[in-house]
Amino acid sequence: MSGYGATFATMQALGLLPMKAENPAYVRAEQGSGKGTKLVVVGAGVAGLCTAYEAKKLGYEVTLLEAGNRPGGRVWSGRNGDVVEFEDGTKQTIEWTKGLYQNMGAGRLPSIHGTTLGYVRQFNIPMEIEVNTSRSTFLQNDHINGGKPYAQRKVINDSRGHVSELLSKAVAGGGFDQEFSTDDKKRLMDFLSYYGPLDKAGKYKGSDRADLKQYPGAGPQDMIVNEDTIPLDTILKANFLGYEMYEEAWDWQATMFQPKGGMDAIPYAFAKALGPVLHLNSPVTAIAKTGKGVTVTYLKEGKETHITADYCVSAMPLTILRKIKVDLDPAHQDAVTKASYRGSYKIAWEGPRFWEKDFNIYGGLSFLSQGPSPLWYPSADIFSDRGILVAGYQDESIDRFQTMTLPQMFARSRGSVERLHPGHGDKLEKPIFVGWKRMKWYEGSWIGAQPAAEYDVMNQPDGPIYFAGDAMSHVVGWQEGAFLSGIRALQMINDKVKSA
Ligand SMILES: Cc1cc2nc3c(=O)[nH]c(=O)nc-3n(C[C@H](O)[C@H](O)[C@H](O)COP(=O)(O)OP(=O)(O)OC[C@H]3O[C@@H](n4cnc5c(N)ncnc54)[C@H](O)[C@@H]3O)c2cc1C
Repeated sequence: MSGYGATFATMQALGLLPMKAENPAYVRAEQGSGKGTKLVVVGAGVAGLCTAYEAKKLGYEVTLLEAGNRPGGRVWSGRNGDVVEFEDGTKQTIEWTKGLYQNMGAGRLPSIHGTTLGYVRQFNIPMEIEVNTSRSTFLQNDHINGGKPYAQRKVINDSRGHVSELLSKAVAGGGFDQEFSTDDKKRLMDFLSYYGPLDKAGKYKGSDRADLKQYPGAGPQDMIVNEDTIPLDTILKANFLGYEMYEEAWDWQATMFQPKGGMDAIPYAFAKALGPVLHLNSPVTAIAKTGKGVTVTYLKEGKETHITADYCVSAMPLTILRKIKVDLDPAHQDAVTKASYRGSYKIAWEGPRFWEKDFNIYGGLSFLSQGPSPLWYPSADIFSDRGILVAGYQDESIDRFQTMTLPQMFARSRGSVERLHPGHGDKLEKPIFVGWKRMKWYEGSWIGAQPAAEYDVMNQPDGPIYFAGDAMSHVVGWQEGAFLSGIRALQMINDKVKSA
């Protein structure tokens, strides 16, 4: 380590410099270590793309087979003319104004996802902030406040104020005499009085963090705080806690990012680097072990085609893997058969940006306790005329969508918009429903809770067949997990090649 490096590390250890949240993971291998080894990767989601990309760099003879007509898998940005195709044959064509888009799968990147952002840097992908939270957005419950929404800033700060008041009463009443010294009790009271904030009598009477009756202005117009707070029992009955806390989750905290123009800039950058390695419209129908390696069967212009290789990385969803003919040992077969996937969906609408002009909402999410939720406001092209609003992004089972027609789902989604933004629901048009459980080549949004034994099995190869995808990571539902799993699969193959 250089002198500078040693000083840097010491300063980090002393807390004088920020630690890097996470370093990108890469394959540890000598250059050219894949030379003479053939590898077939199945599925050009980000797991398959990164496996093939890293393998190509190491000199492997790689073929990447993708069933669909685009790279990226669940990293997909829908635009005018794109077609959403379900397994049952249902098709929807996007007819939004040119230039508008919506990330129908992956939509945001936390700053702590070092491997994903490492690739963003490598490919020089232009990025912008994804505004994941705005205190101007709403929390709403049909059974509270006559169904009228509250601004998030009011719910969050009123909750804090009431809890601080209760705690300060307990301290004053001797409730913590055993736990705290007199000095510490004084410090705690000071803390609560600022944190609430509380008045001199220890009461919470609203604050400028929560709600104003009158904004400050010029001349005589001064700020008036709204002292009409939401009672604590109302907040508790509304069960808003999860929504109040969502931005505290470590991978939902600011700063979050998105590629400019659509999340699919990431897979398209890989596809460009891979060139002829990537074969689109090439669905794999069988993977057979040969004793020396694998034979992979796929359809090329509808014709059955075979390719042999030393190794195969299956980076398709387990929901699809179990439908095709694969020589799996009983343990892998059992884990693949039992894998249970969630059915998350997004409904996206085009409309004028009333949420910005009339509601002071620029990005972020509003939550409803009943019906399609949340509303996710676009971070792209803020201040432009029109945008794409997501109204409903949760599991289909929560909204009982399984028994509804598309028009019924759209009516419910529009209803959610109307409850939060009365008089504006009708301004939305050209809705698109992307239910990942129904999507051809996916049949699920991400894997649900997996028993540890099955997870462990899928994280080990079955002879020459290796597995990648976010389901083979502890970062499920994020590209980060998919990248890490692809890198890990290739690392295992490379170690094997090296030791042979
Ligand atoms: C609604 C939603 C929201 C999300 N939000 C985020 C987010 O905000 N941030 C984030 O980082 N991640 C997010 N994710 C998760 C992220 O999209 C995934 O973790 C990641 O894209 C998974 O990549 P993968 O390569 O493992 O799988 P996939 O993307 O599913 O790729 C699998 C590929 O296999 C192909 N395939 C299927 N069958 C065959 C076959 N027979 N032959 C050949 N190819 C086949 C498919 O067409 C597909 O291209 C979200 C996902 C969803 C669904």
